[in-house]
Amino acid sequence: MRYISTRGEAPALGFEDVLLTGLATDGGLYVPESLPHFSLEEIRSWRGLSYSELAFNVMHPFVDDAIPADDFRKMLDETYAVFAHKAVAPLVQLDTNEWVMELFHGPTLAFKDFALQLLGRLLDYVLEKRQQHVVIMGATSGDTGSAAIEGCRRCKHVDIFILHPYQRVSEVQRRQMTTVEGDNIHNIAVRGNFDDCQRMVKESFGNQSFLGGKTQLAAVNSINWARIMAQIVYYFHASLALGGPDRSMAFSVPTGNFGDIFAGYLAKKMGLPISQLVIATNRNDILHRFMSGNKYEQHQLEHTLSPSMDIMVSSNFERLLFDLHGRDGLAVKTLLENAAKGPVSIEDYRWKHARKLFDSDAVDDKTTCDTIRETYDQNEYLLDPHTAIGVRAARNCRRDPAVPMITLGTAHPAKFPDAVAESGLSVQPPLPAHMADLFEREERYTVLDNNIAGVQEFIAKNWKKT
Ligand SMILES: *Cc1c(COP(=O)(O)O)cnc(C)c1O
Repeated sequence: MRYISTRGEAPALGFEDVLLTGLATDGGLYVPESLPHFSLEEIRSWRGLSYSELAFNVMHPFVDDAIPADDFRKMLDETYAVFAHKAVAPLVQLDTNEWVMELFHGPTLAFKDFALQLLGRLLDYVLEKRQQHVVIMGATSGDTGSAAIEGCRRCKHVDIFILHPYQRVSEVQRRQMTTVEGDNIHNIAVRGNFDDCQRMVKESFGNQSFLGGKTQLAAVNSINWARIMAQIVYYFHASLALGGPDRSMAFSVPTGNFGDIFAGYLAKKMGLPISQLVIATNRNDILHRFMSGNKYEQHQLEHTLSPSMDIMVSSNFERLLFDLHGRDGLAVKTLLENAAKGPVSIEDYRWKHARKLFDSDAVDDKTTCDTIRETYDQNEYLLDPHTAIGVRAARNCRRDPAVPMITLGTAHPAKFPDAVAESGLSVQPPLPAHMADLFEREERYTVLDNNIAGVQEFIAKNWKKT
């Protein structure tokens, strides 16, 4: 399998190199040159498989001969054995034909574990084979940092440096990062905000000379293709559990960077009958505004009760734009260069095509809280604020009540106790057993000034040069 850049100028790469690369050299994102396609008969034959067996069938064509089949199977068995629920991604019914797929039984209680538990293993496998080392550098405002640290804690060939804004992440989120033990794990609290952290990461990827040529940076955010790939699997898993592929499914996806829902779009292109995909956003609604009015325009960032979806631009949207433009990299490049300067639109027929592929909705904090409260009152089931947005958007956008509507449950409610409290409920969602002692564990992190030279010096000094 070859991978090409959405901006058409960078060289095509194989799976291993795509894994180790962040952005393509032309500033684009990598996508598969062609997608595998599964027949209904083939998908039907996957009924009753374990999650990791299914994951193998869905992902193997993407990995191809980069990893021998037996090694890849073993890696997937280990990855999904880490999850605290035997079904890995269990479905919970809320109403007639209405479901939540719980994607929060991994070590850090958010769906990002599905991809990052695998990514850490993939990286170490490829690096062992090549006898290479990488430094992961990432910025986090919450869930990505902890999932990446958990995913890489046992990697022999990876050092991981996660920057978070000092005193500006929740205590649960900070502790999930800073209490993980391992010599290769480095938490940096930057005296600045999330944008400062992200800017330092971007600049460092652009110029890696501070590493002295002895190692290279690798990315763990959803521009990394392997993350998208791992997220395709659970769309198949949900469908098979509810009678697919002999009936089609609808999915509602709480969306920030457009990674998770893009994986659903790919599942459909790979042959899974999906009749509706709902983009669910919070007040940071650039995608909903684009879908409603064909105008792609950055607004000021709003802080909401669903912080993991607080983004101004969705980086993975570029991957969809590439398809909408008939895979014309130059057209995408021009469009996104213009989008950096001001609002842009696409040709009407392309936009109409996008509207056929996706529905969308934006949900504010008050409606998020109402949904958490109503669902608890009706089902004694506690939604986290991100999932609540998905559930509400599913109800607002639903087209056919005969089609099962599945909302992706992206986080455990215990991660976001403030939203639960704000919805007027007196229940406190308890942390699951494997995290019950989170507040007693010892924390390790280094506070640094908002200064890129200082941060780079810290990284250069602290990655272990084995
Ligand atoms: C990251 C995250 C999202 C957004 O996912 P994208 O792939 O960026 O669209 C939604 N909910 C939670 C809880 C998250 O951690």
